[in-house]
Amino acid sequence: MSHKQASFYQSVQTNFEKAAKVSGLPKGLLAQISACNAVYQMRFPIKSGNGYEVIEAYRVQHSHHRLPTKGGIRFSHLVNQEEVMALASLMTYKCAIVNVPFGGAKGGVKVSTRKYSEEQLEKITRRYTVELVRKNFIGPGTDVPAPDYGTGSREMAWILDTYVQLRNGELDAAACVTGKPTGQNGIQGRTEATGRGVYYATRELLNDEEEMKALKMKPGTEGKTIVIQGLGNVGTYTGLICTEEGGMKVIAVSEIEGTIYNPDGIDIDKLVKYRKKKKTIIGFPGTKKMAKREDWVGINCDVLIPAALESQINKANAKKVKAKIIVEAANGPVTAEAEEILLKKGVVILPDMYANAGGVTVSYFEWLKNLSHIRFGRMEKRFDQRAYTQLVNKVEDLTGKKISKKEKTLLTKGADEIDLVRSGLEETMIQAYHEIRNIKRRKRNVKEWRTAAFLVALEKVASDYMSLGIFP
Ligand code: NAD
Repeated sequence: MSHKQASFYQSVQTNFEKAAKVSGLPKGLLAQISACNAVYQMRFPIKSGNGYEVIEAYRVQHSHHRLPTKGGIRFSHLVNQEEVMALASLMTYKCAIVNVPFGGAKGGVKVSTRKYSEEQLEKITRRYTVELVRKNFIGPGTDVPAPDYGTGSREMAWILDTYVQLRNGELDAAACVTGKPTGQNGIQGRTEATGRGVYYATRELLNDEEEMKALKMKPGTEGKTIVIQGLGNVGTYTGLICTEEGGMKVIAVSEIEGTIYNPDGIDIDKLVKYRKKKKTIIGFPGTKKMAKREDWVGINCDVLIPAALESQINKANAKKVKAKIIVEAANGPVTAEAEEILLKKGVVILPDMYANAGGVTVSYFEWLKNLSHIRFGRMEKRFDQRAYTQLVNKVEDLTGKKISKKEKTLLTKGADEIDLVRSGLEETMIQAYHEIRNIKRRKRNVKEWRTAAFLVALEKVASDYMSLGIFP
């Protein structure tokens, strides 16, 4: 047996083929769906020390069955064309699963964010944006980037500013990128969206009595133990929301510097503050450091949540997994080879293209907000509040009983933007869960979640292609 691991892109293709075989769709159509439609590879110089350095960057548009295409931008020293292609492919399926009307895309810049100053990162981001504008690879109706590994709202603000300067007067310019700071045409709840979505996905599975029975687990989120790899944007909010809203317990966290463990639970809020100050998670009070960084994989817990990078659970370590559930917060954290081993062990894997789709869902809300030029809730909040107050007053009159001021405020509150975003995200994740679950139940030859999720996506993308008249 070879010890060489399959690449991330090969893994995505293997998973696609597995689903394609049982999809019943024509071969030509499947080939069009899986192909990356446009790959833009660029090189540009930035000043470094006394000389210059050439930066390698990409933007891949995987599928144009719906426009604009959509997908994050990754800054990492590991970026390569195949990785961006794999990530762009996943975006197509992800958008279809959560009923977001975009094609898939992804961007990548091969830089280690730790090695550059803020000023250099700004130069790189702006230059990358100029390249995208020049080739028409960005725009509210063509291709809309967002944050991914190594980027956040700061980079999105630089992208918007660069775009606006080049496209002066474009009415919908703010919709050219999502994940922007809230004060700069962003939307409340985007920063936490992916982690919040991961929580909703995990909660739906843990509350599913039939699934829990098959796993011999008690239904419910309360007290369930989780292990998280990666304390970045996705890992942090997943940990915070799973504990605060789900009553779960994070018993281990793994980061670049190592893995820490505490069976009584780790306070994620305090850990994030600790890491900011000490630049490491090691030594966090109450925790013990595990011998090796990779040891997080084999910890005995209910749910394993990889939230860092791809191929973290692979054929070399899959046998060590003791958890019954893996929720893929990162993209591609479990390789196709590892999945085979895990499925034989009876592990349930909620796939990336569903589990981490909360980010693109709220990005869609942000894009809609930018196109409509109005904040969600602005028109109806006070109207609703007044109507609910009248209703509560009437009930009080009719019953002769008064409720407390606190209860009244709660009952009569009109929805703010954040309430609507959370409600829209929750509804989206619940609906997608049931769509995937129904396919898993209905199709006798589909036993696992990834193939079921692929089938949900393939059906929708295929139907879009057919309605375009390209495939009769
Ligand atoms: P991030 O840069 O905010 O955080 C990633 C964290 O992982 C960092 O703190 C990094 O130090 C850590 N890490 C890297 N390698 C590690 C290793 N070997 N062991 C332990 N920790 C390691 O990135 P993010 O935005 O949280 O993205 C994480 C994953 O989630 C990626 O796969 C990304 O594609 C996916 N994702 C992100 C979003 C989003 O909205 N940001 C949406 C969907 C999917």
